[in-house]
Amino acid sequence: MSDSLNMRDAVLMRELNRLKEEGLYRDPACVEGAQGPRVEIGGTRYLCFCSNNYLSLANHPEVAEAARRAIDRYGWGSGASRLVSGTMRLHRRIEEELASFKKAEAAILFATGYMANLGVISALAGMGDAVIIDTLDHASIIDGCRLSGARLRVYPHRNMEALERILRSESGARRRLVITDTIFSMDGDLAPLGDIVSLARRHGAWVMADEAHATGVLGAQGRGAAELLGVEEGIDISLGTLSKALGGEGGFVTGSAALVDSLRNRARSFIYTTAPPPAVCAAGLAALEIVRREPGRRAALLRTADALREGLDGMGLDTMGSSHHIIPLLVGEAEQAVRVSRALRERGILAPAIRPPTVPRGTSRLRLTVMADHTGDDIRALLEAVARIAEEGVLR
Ligand SMILES: *Cc1c(COP(=O)(O)O)cnc(C)c1O
Repeated sequence: MSDSLNMRDAVLMRELNRLKEEGLYRDPACVEGAQGPRVEIGGTRYLCFCSNNYLSLANHPEVAEAARRAIDRYGWGSGASRLVSGTMRLHRRIEEELASFKKAEAAILFATGYMANLGVISALAGMGDAVIIDTLDHASIIDGCRLSGARLRVYPHRNMEALERILRSESGARRRLVITDTIFSMDGDLAPLGDIVSLARRHGAWVMADEAHATGVLGAQGRGAAELLGVEEGIDISLGTLSKALGGEGGFVTGSAALVDSLRNRARSFIYTTAPPPAVCAAGLAALEIVRREPGRRAALLRTADALREGLDGMGLDTMGSSHHIIPLLVGEAEQAVRVSRALRERGILAPAIRPPTVPRGTSRLRLTVMADHTGDDIRALLEAVARIAEEGVLR
């Protein structure tokens, strides 16, 4: 390696060391077998409370079998962009199924939810427009807004007075797009979708709802938080993922036929990338079928989450007003959150610390998530470990 490369590495190492000093360094663990409530890392088994595999579909036999059958029939790769020769029968089928599931006119599939947010926001908003977001919206929304070139306006978390002020002050914008997570990914609380929809209506703005963590989980049919809150009619653009509760990979957007047609023609993260492998669509279709057929799966998940939250609240711990399957356990400083996470890991429980820049400084936390396959014993084991750690003074 040349001297100048070594110099560059020395600079990078200094930056990495700074991250380590601040407790912000990340070094992902490697899971050996399949995903599920129990995972193996470095020869040790852990109870996993940090996966978004909420409905335990990531390793469901029907889902895996659907992917295998699709590989036998269609091979692995798609070979080209959707707009060239990459649109295959299963891409069409999953888009039809997603539209039907969401009771929308049409749906469009992206390779990931991240790419869906980049593509949708930058296709629908640009110079002269205003994109208006909650301060806790997901990074992919923020990145999409930045990429769009529209004016980025941010309101404090769930603050509807601030949203209304921004809507008023942006009355000169060509187009105003309000974008929110529906259940916030790191806080587990719900967006006030009813208020957002009525404010947006009053001011002639568009509403985009990111249901990444709600798809398959919330609402009687699992369509998301907008279904749960009865406001689906008011959402112009609904985004979901196949990557969380549905246990696979992919992002999708549902809405009017004109919206979807427009995204097919203008969303750069849809156009300038290779279509997802057909087997990914087959797995998504199988997962969707299970979501429709087994409402008991999401009911079990939410019951388990309630039991965990009640246990933590009962110990006087701060679960930050979360209401469903994402349960933050507030710690505070990043280093302290890392210590708590390490102490849990020593007790056989996997729950990494969530630190800045993912969450604001001083609000580092453990983000506990449950899966449909977690048992009552699993929850008791976690609560027991948390109680021990609290006694030892690691968790204030
Ligand atoms: C995870 C997430 C995404 C990205 O979805 P992927 O399919 O994992 O890329 C988008 N929005 C929100 C709110 C998320 O939590």
